[in-house]
Amino acid sequence: MEKQLKSGHLVFVLYPFQGHITPMLQLATILHSKGFSATIVHPELNSPDPSNHPEFSFISIPDKLTESEVSDGDIASLVLSLNKNCAAPFQQCMKKILHQKCSHDHTAGILYDTLMYCAQTVADDLKLPGISVRTSAAATLLLYPVFPHLDGKDSISENEMPELRSLQLQHMRALLLQNPTDAMTEVRAAMTNGTKSSSAIIVNTIHFLEQAALSKVKEYFPAPIFTIGPFHKLAPTICSSILMEDANCISWLNKQAPKSVIYVSFGSLASIDEQELIEMAWGLANSKQPFLCVIRPGFVRGSEWIESLPNGFQESLGERGCIVKWAPQKEVLAHCAVGGFWSHCGWNSTIESICEGVPMLCKPFFGDQVLNSNYICHVWRVGLELQNKLERGNIERAIKKLMVDMEGEQIRKKAMYLKEKADLCLREGGSSCCSLNELTKQISSFDYKT
Ligand code: UDP
Repeated sequence: MEKQLKSGHLVFVLYPFQGHITPMLQLATILHSKGFSATIVHPELNSPDPSNHPEFSFISIPDKLTESEVSDGDIASLVLSLNKNCAAPFQQCMKKILHQKCSHDHTAGILYDTLMYCAQTVADDLKLPGISVRTSAAATLLLYPVFPHLDGKDSISENEMPELRSLQLQHMRALLLQNPTDAMTEVRAAMTNGTKSSSAIIVNTIHFLEQAALSKVKEYFPAPIFTIGPFHKLAPTICSSILMEDANCISWLNKQAPKSVIYVSFGSLASIDEQELIEMAWGLANSKQPFLCVIRPGFVRGSEWIESLPNGFQESLGERGCIVKWAPQKEVLAHCAVGGFWSHCGWNSTIESICEGVPMLCKPFFGDQVLNSNYICHVWRVGLELQNKLERGNIERAIKKLMVDMEGEQIRKKAMYLKEKADLCLREGGSSCCSLNELTKQISSFDYKT
């Protein structure tokens, strides 16, 4: 991307988890290439490494999170605490930034992860434009406005938008209802209100993937929406992994036949128990497909790593299986040996796979992963659901269907077709490219009122 004249200074506010840090730093990189300077403000938890991004300034703010808040898996309470604890330090930090910046590099806006909605309040207070950045599917923005109360009726009628019906938003509501908490209701309301007050909304999606959801989102949110995804294709070189990537798996992939390997990864947060690991391992082994499997330390509850696998399991596979703690995922998905991706359907993994034309086997664990899996299997039809619990026979059959059986042929073809469509969106004149140009203009045109 060509560098243009300086257009102002932008402040980015991170939500401190891998699936959010990466796209936000990618977005900062993209807008930097359009001439904006950038300051990255982040809570102390999972701080990014500034040495990977010498072009940005980094400011850490105290998050006062306790160890149990971080580890006990109650995401709604964690989001609430983060916003409560970070609001005042962020306000002070912004005042300092505004004081230091001289007029030729004015602060043109605060871009915050939608989950860090306290930044919108600060932006309003300082009369700065606040821009909400959704690092998940645009459809997730509908979950609160469509179901403001957990027991409410949805406002998508039966015959309206079949695509939204296929997403089974009502099914997601049922999942939320299984375990409703006050914290969850408060977070959903606060996120939605923040985004409703924002001056613009940026979504890491491609317009054609979510056309129906996007037109519905426009009914609820007044700000202009910019779909400039996938960010990773516009900012391909940035390194933001919290864990060390094991590059040896690329040498292993180099030795495999084209499209023969099933890549397995469940992202940075999901976890399984020891019995499920054993079922996974046998399912993969019995499928007879070569596999590259990421087992993050902490992924198997109660284990350090893979010590619960039967003795001799790895040796019995020989060269057919490769297990690593963390992989360079984008490079893996782009490798010609990879023919399928067994995924937890995190949004980043989903769009990374789509951009490389890799069909998916879906095993969503929680939250928006269920919605993404519905997109993959029922709307875009580039994947299969792994139904029921993790059991070796199910896994073996599903892998064969996705990778080699005639039954999976349509899915594999459709995945290649979506990749080609995604490529076009990134070219000049394509939807993401045009939306990025519009966004740049929009940010440059915001009035600076302080
Ligand atoms: N990732 C990676 N190496 C791995 C596993 C995952 O680099 O071994 C990256 C992946 O490319 C994606 C991110 O981690 O960008 C995971 O984000 P996602 O939204 O898919 O899932 P989450 O971790 O938020 O559940």
